[in-house]
Amino acid sequence: ERKAALSASTGPGATSDGHKVPLLANVGGPADVPAAVEAGAEGVGLFRTEFLFLDDSKQAPSEEKQVEAYRAVLEAFPEGRVVVRVLDAGADKPLDFLTPADEPNPALGVRGLRSLLDHPEVLRTQLTALSKAVEGLPVYLEVMAPMVADRTDAKAFADACREAGLRAKFGAMVEIPSAALRARSILQEVEFLSLGTNDLAQYTFAADRQVGAVSRLQDPWQPALLDLVALSAEAARAEGKSCGVCGEAASDPLLACVLTGLGVTSLSMGAASIPYVRSTLAKYTLAQCERAAAAARAADTAEEARLAAQAVLSGE
Ligand code: PEP
Ligand code: MG
Repeated sequence: ERKAALSASTGPGATSDGHKVPLLANVGGPADVPAAVEAGAEGVGLFRTEFLFLDDSKQAPSEEKQVEAYRAVLEAFPEGRVVVRVLDAGADKPLDFLTPADEPNPALGVRGLRSLLDHPEVLRTQLTALSKAVEGLPVYLEVMAPMVADRTDAKAFADACREAGLRAKFGAMVEIPSAALRARSILQEVEFLSLGTNDLAQYTFAADRQVGAVSRLQDPWQPALLDLVALSAEAARAEGKSCGVCGEAASDPLLACVLTGLGVTSLSMGAASIPYVRSTLAKYTLAQCERAAAAARAADTAEEARLAAQAVLSGE
């Protein structure tokens, strides 16, 4: 029993009946790695590479500087997975040299993958740096694009990765409702999906993530958001591919159980949340998580969804 308790506090993520759900860390760079290792993260599920670009708003960091930063993160998880997101500039993460200054709606403008496709040299340098950083390391590298809207976007990103000679799995973030609705089509071009629930909520509810007055609509328990998660996870399952969550939703222990029940295959979050998510997940079977997920989706509001999932999991 002590062994079970210990593994629930330090081991890999799993439900009580052994259904594995890798628990990964969201990091912004090498400085976040010690906390991720300390929390027992099984790898990195979201490496936000924006931080590297913040020192200089006029130009991208050199290839050498990027190789160094990527390698420092990759080396920390020798047997693990590291999912690197290519630069997500624009909207809430503006960068002078990449982001158009005169957009009326920056969140709906040239951001994320769109800005990289407009500046292919920035994407190429990043992919080449990743290629060099992973050389000789046993780590399992995955690279994904932010703000993929459709199959055309997914293909453009996969083509860029192949042209850079990158030996990694290529994936697409699902942050736009169109990507969730047509996830199977996107999966014809890439090997995995990762749900960015922060932006997915913003675009599903037309509610700016930076505007506190509409925060009710940013609640990841919103049943409409759960429906889009379910669609994406079902598409990935049908294609025999993985579908993780790397948005804030994954850090809520109860919601992590619901996401597992919806068919999500890994959860990535700030390191501090990993122990709570691990111990909560370890209390319930996959079947209980599935029942909680069904109850949450049957609700009409975020609050009712939370209460319904809680009732199922506490056996009421
Ligand atoms: C998201 O949108 O959920 C996400 C993980 O990316 P970011 O918060 O960096 O936009
Ligand atoms: Mg996002």
